[in-house]
Parts: sequence; C-alpha cells; structure tokens
Amino acid sequence: MILKLKQTPKKQNLQKLLSQISRLGLRPFVVKNKIPKIVIINNHFSPKVKSQLEALPPICQIIDTGDKLYRLASRLSKKENTKVKIGSLYIGGEAIVLMAGPCAVESKVQIETVALQVAKSGAKVLRGGAYKPRTEPYAFQGLEKIGLRFLREAADKAHLAVVTEVLDTRDVEIVGQFTDIYQVGARNMQNFALLKEVGKTGKPVLLKRGMWASYKEFLLAAEYILSCGNPNVILCERGIRTHVNELRFTLDLNAIPFLKAETHLPVIVDPSHGTGRADLVTPMSRAAIASGADGLIVEAHCNPEKSVSDKEQAISLEEFKNLVLEVRKIATTMGREVL
Ligand code: PEP
Ligand code: MN
Repeated sequence: MILKLKQTPKKQNLQKLLSQISRLGLRPFVVKNKIPKIVIINNHFSPKVKSQLEALPPICQIIDTGDKLYRLASRLSKKENTKVKIGSLYIGGEAIVLMAGPCAVESKVQIETVALQVAKSGAKVLRGGAYKPRTEPYAFQGLEKIGLRFLREAADKAHLAVVTEVLDTRDVEIVGQFTDIYQVGARNMQNFALLKEVGKTGKPVLLKRGMWASYKEFLLAAEYILSCGNPNVILCERGIRTHVNELRFTLDLNAIPFLKAETHLPVIVDPSHGTGRADLVTPMSRAAIASGADGLIVEAHCNPEKSVSDKEQAISLEEFKNLVLEVRKIATTMGREVL
C-alpha cells in the first residue's frame, strides 16, 4: 500500500503522521519525492485500519498494491507508463528510442566517429563504457575519467545524450558529471549500496537485468532506486544464462511483455550482450521491437574487428544503419515510430 500526501508536510507533522501510522500497527517507509510518499510495508490489514488511515488529515490517496513486494514499480501503483525525460527526449513514450555506441570508449577519435555515424543513422543516445566490468582482472578496465570526457564531448558534437556504466558507489559523483543516464550493469543488479546511491541522485538509471535474476529480483532492484525517491528507472533485458552454451547468453524476450504488464517503467533490450554475436543483433533487434520494447541499446563500432572488448558482438556502423531501417519497419507495423 502507498499513501500519497496532499503536500509536503513540515518535519514535525511528518513525524506525527508516522507515529500515528505506527500506532495502527503498520510499518511506514518514507519515499523522499518532492511531495513524499509513504509506503506501508504490511500487506494485510483490516478494513477498519484502512478507514483509520483514510481519516488521517495529510493523506489524499491510498493506493492498494496488493501483495506485490515491488510496490512502487508495480503497475498497481501507477497505471500510466513512466516516461523518463532526458532533455527533450522521452524514454517510455510512444516513440522508440535507440541507443548505440561501442562497448568501451577506446579513444577520442573512435568515440567521435561512432557518435557522428550512429546519430546520422537515428540513434538518440550514445553508449560507451569508461569503467568496464571485466571478467578478467587483466583485461582492459576502461579509460575511466578521460574516457568520460571523450564520451561527453563526442555526444555533444553529435547532439546525443549519454549513457555510461557506473561500477562503484565511489564513482557515482564523477560519472554523474558527464552522463545523462547511469547504467547499472548486469553484474551489479543487486549491488544494493550502488542502487541506493544512484537512487539518491534523481538522475535517470538504466538498470540491466542480472544474467541470473528472476523478474521479481529485477523489479525489486528497480524498487531500491525508486524507494530512494528516484522515479527515473529504465529496465533493460540483456540476456540470461541458460543451458544454451552455443551463445554467450539467451535473450529472454518473454521479459518484455511480462515487464510491460507488471510495471509502468520503460523496458528496453540489449541484443548485443543478449546474443554475443554480431550477426544475431539485427534479427533480435527486430524481435525486441515486435515484443513491445521501448528502445534498444546496441554495441556498434567503427572497426569491429579491432574492438578492445566484446568484439564478437560489435556491429559495424553500416550494419547499424541497416538495423535502424529494419527496426523502423517493425515499429511501423506495431503502430509506433522510431525517434
Ligand atoms: C555493457 O553494456 O557494456 C555491459 C557490460 O553490459 P552487461 O552489464 O549487460 O553485461
Ligand atoms: Mn560490452
């Protein structure tokens, strides 16, 4: 259950309200939005308690979220789709948004070349890791701060927004100075300290599903960010581990209609990590849009064979151009447009 307040209460009035709620035998959790919301942790209580709650003066609406544990992420708490605003761009609206760029920022020239070309083809957001989560400690770990600078400058030149991964709570501030969207990667989906930290910033967060995570765990990870007062969460399906060992991951497209029904948050797909193979990226991009995704995040490189990380799944800039044309056709049949 979620309680919406009429207006921002004074500190002592909020304290008073919380003790009144506690006296009813309920456990309140305050979500610090402009006008705070109160999540009631208990799932089952009597109609009498409900009417007592309704009688508390600063409350204007009580929303029943049933037995969902992800109370704020659930569609029961908000019927209309959440549109995450990035400048003049909306993710989660009618239009499909494409994000593209290399796995990692490798050099100023590389990221600029990619930025200009993907923008020309129709991407609206530039991706590129400056802090890379690598399986091997000896593998390229990213250009870090200078990579962030190259990424931002390239995006500005091409009039693109930026999405880039933050790996560590200690980097939230520096990454936030350069990016429009924080990416929390699959491996960090349950890094609760990081979820809380990006939650506190209020900046959009692209949350990737852990390769081992159930839908419930995924939505509860989103709930961590929402419960810190940050409503700007974009969910990303990026493939899971299955018995199929011929491919890097199995792109779970069931997740798209499931999540769209279960939550009001935008849902996008990463067909690059989801397949691990460049030749599968375009077909699975089409499938992702057909299954109702609000956007794609694709790894594209100016010289895929020379890609420092994830080279098997990197598509060329020419292939990206073609991918956009293919995706537009599917979007049209879905009654949507690609921005
Ligand atoms: C990435 O986007 O570069 C990445 C590492 O993705 P994931 O967290 O999904 O593996
Ligand atoms: Mn990658």
